[in-house]
Formats: sequence, structure tokens, C-alpha cells
Amino acid sequence: MSKDKTQGEILQEKLAHKPKSSGIKMSEQEIAKAFDFCEGYKKFLDAGKTERECAQWAVDLLEKNSYTPFDPDKAYKPGDKIYLLNRGKALIFAAIGNRPLSDGVKIIASHIDSPRIDLKQSPLYEEAQLAMLKTHYYGGIRKYQWVAMPLALHGVIVKKDGQVVNVQIGESAGDPVFCINDLLPHLAQEQNKRTLAEGIKGEELNVLVGSLPFKDDKVSEKVKLNVLRLLSEKYDIVEEDFLSAELCLVPAWGARDIGLDCSMVGAYGHDDRVCAYTSLMACLEASAPAYTWVNVLADKEEAGSDGNTGLASRFLENFIWALAAGQKLDGHRVIENSECLSADVSGAFDPTFPEVNDKRNTCYLGYGAVMSKYTGSRGKAGTSDASAEFVGKIRALFDKHDVDWQAGELGKVDAGGGGTVAKFIANLGADVLDVGVPVLSMHSPLEIVGKTDVYSAYKGYLAFVGQD
Ligand code: MN
Ligand code: MN
Repeated sequence: MSKDKTQGEILQEKLAHKPKSSGIKMSEQEIAKAFDFCEGYKKFLDAGKTERECAQWAVDLLEKNSYTPFDPDKAYKPGDKIYLLNRGKALIFAAIGNRPLSDGVKIIASHIDSPRIDLKQSPLYEEAQLAMLKTHYYGGIRKYQWVAMPLALHGVIVKKDGQVVNVQIGESAGDPVFCINDLLPHLAQEQNKRTLAEGIKGEELNVLVGSLPFKDDKVSEKVKLNVLRLLSEKYDIVEEDFLSAELCLVPAWGARDIGLDCSMVGAYGHDDRVCAYTSLMACLEASAPAYTWVNVLADKEEAGSDGNTGLASRFLENFIWALAAGQKLDGHRVIENSECLSADVSGAFDPTFPEVNDKRNTCYLGYGAVMSKYTGSRGKAGTSDASAEFVGKIRALFDKHDVDWQAGELGKVDAGGGGTVAKFIANLGADVLDVGVPVLSMHSPLEIVGKTDVYSAYKGYLAFVGQD
């Protein structure tokens, strides 16, 4: 027989908040499901390393599941399933629920662009008998992390006649890869005195693409010419076609399990494909429940969400307005009654760098999906800050559906900070809360997530879109 509890123990049990301690509270059976779920996720990561590739992958899957291209002039009825591909780089898909749209829609918004190295418009040059490409990095990268590692080239080249050439080099067995060089330690005495931020400078992110000259004494820049010859043979392009191209370098490796227990996935681009994949799977599972749900896989988040494929633009608003018009409703009213989970990752506590976090208010790998009431920096600038009422509602919903979740904010006050797409959707009038997955080494070429957290995010999104 156990000893009677003391008054203090009883009070503590009743009043004190016990932070959840790791996803191990999942049953063995659920952990196995999480591992299994991540096998599909790893395939998605390997299939999509750019927003265009991810969007196309999702469209293919949606079409297999009877989703049809959105027609803004059509009135949709409950059970209809639609998608809208915005310039090949951002995607909205939705299922019409039984409730009228005036009850609001359930929005999940993630992004499918990730930090990377873009090529400049006139990238190719030759120096010291090496052919190189000039680049302009995209998103928040730590430049020193991207040197001396295998890189693959992805993207499109649009020729003068409008033909779009898809490029992908460095992913198939037998493909060559590319790299950005770094200095040898023997001669790095001066470079070593630079700050870490300046260790590799933007204009030093030059990509090595060839060293063999085209044999003809009559021409100059023979190595560059040889590279142009190879590109012409493979893609039927000329140098000028680089001017209308979107080409980028991404890590050439695939997603791998991390750790002896294989409990984590290491890959390029978890931010934010982990939320894109989990929300996509949740929506397909929910299909068409009571509320209409709208899932957005946005572009341009890593560069500030500007542009016609980013969520600072109107493409989501226009979509919801068109849906509303189909039911003869005012778009404002629909959006103002809508709720949104801004599905994006957060930086997980790293025991090697504990000083950047308030350990009572950070998220931990393995503790479940992370809910952030606000993001931003310097006194909550640049955040929409979810209302207590909406946080309370989602907290109850997740507990009801047995979702492992934790609350956490990105870093200590004034340590830096960052934002998500939450504010753009909140600015339209919807209630928005950030819910995502904790990530180690965020924005690096090898980001890490915990498999149970990935599964918890999926369960959370499913609970949200599946509401009665
Ligand atoms: Mn993100
Ligand atoms: Mn990011």
C-alpha cells in the first residue's frame, strides 16, 4: 500500500503545470507508426528540394486523390476537392465541407521554399582554367556551412521561344555534383581572423563546374566554352538563356536516419517541408469534414514572403474570396470567421548551445509539436501574437485528440528571433497560431527533426482540419 500523499503533494498535482517530458509517452505502437510515417516523409524530401518540385509532387498526389484544378467562376458544393497551382511554385488545395463558408474555413499554411544558393543571372565565368558560377544566396544561411560539400543543381531555364527546360544534376547515381571551395588551413591565417558571419563572404560562394578546356587554340576561355558545349548538348541552351532561369544549388544528399536508435531524420529542407508534408497528409486523411479546409504550401517565406507566390501577396485571399462568391457570400466575412494554423518549424533546444534559449520557454526535440503564441523579435515586433482564446481552443483540441505538444518560443528575448507567415494571414482577419516541428541545426544543409514530433504535428493538423 502506498503512503498517503502529503498536502503539498496533493496541491502540486492539482495546481502546478507539469511540462510533458518527451514523446516517449507515446505507446510503442504509436512510435512504430511515427517511424513508418517518416518513411513516406523521407521519400517526399528526396523528391522535392525546390518549391517547384514540392508543388508538382503534391499536385500529382492530389490528382490521384480526385482533386481537380480550381475554377474561380464555379460554385463548389460540399465534398468537392480542388487545387490551385500558383506559377508552379505555390499551391493551395481545399476540400469543401458541409457547413456554410460563413462559418469560416480552417486554414493550414506552410512553406515549401528552403534556404539555398541561387545562381546569378550571368553566372558562368572562367578563371585560372576553372569554370565557375556566381551565386546569390536565398534565405537566411550561415555561409560557412555551404562550402566543401556536394551540391546538386536544380531549377528551370526558360528559352527565348518560351520552352521551359527542367534541370536537375547531382541527384541520380552517376551524376556529377558541384561544390563551393574553401581555403586550406595552411593558408587560412588571415581568413581565420574574420568573424564567423564573414568567414565565407557572399561573393565567395562561387561554384566549381569544370576544369577541362575545349581544344582549339583559336578561342579563349576554353573551359567555359567546354561547359557551354556540354549544357548545349544536354539541354539545347545557350549562355544567354541563363538570364531567364531559376537555378539553385542544394545539398546533393538524401534524407537519412540519424542516431543509433534511428529516431531522427537528417535532411536538407525540413524547414518547412516537414510541415508541408504533415499537413498535406492530414488534409488527405480528413478529406471533406464539416468545415471547409484550405491548405497553402507557400513560396518565398525564407526571403520575407514578398512576391506573387509569397503569402504577403493576395493569392490566398483571392482564393477564399472566389470560394465565398460561389456561395454568394462576402469574402471578408468568411476570412474573419476563419482559423489558421501557421505550420512552420521552430529551433529546438541544443544542449551544446544552451545559452541562446530560455530553457523554460523553448521547445525540445522529442517533446511533440511546438505551439508558439508569438514569434518576432525586439519586443514582439513582426508577430501577430495569437489571442489567448484561440490558443486555449487549440490546446483543448490537441489534448482531446491526444496530440503530444509543447509550448515554446524561438530563443531568449533579444537573442535574435524570426517570423513565420502567421502575421500575413492574421492581417486578413483570421485567428492564427504557429504550430510546427522542433528542428536542430535549422537552416543548415543538414537539419534534424525527431520522428515522433513529425507524427505529432500530423496528428495535430488532422485534429484541426477534422473538426465537426
Ligand atoms: Mn520556416
Ligand atoms: Mn526558415
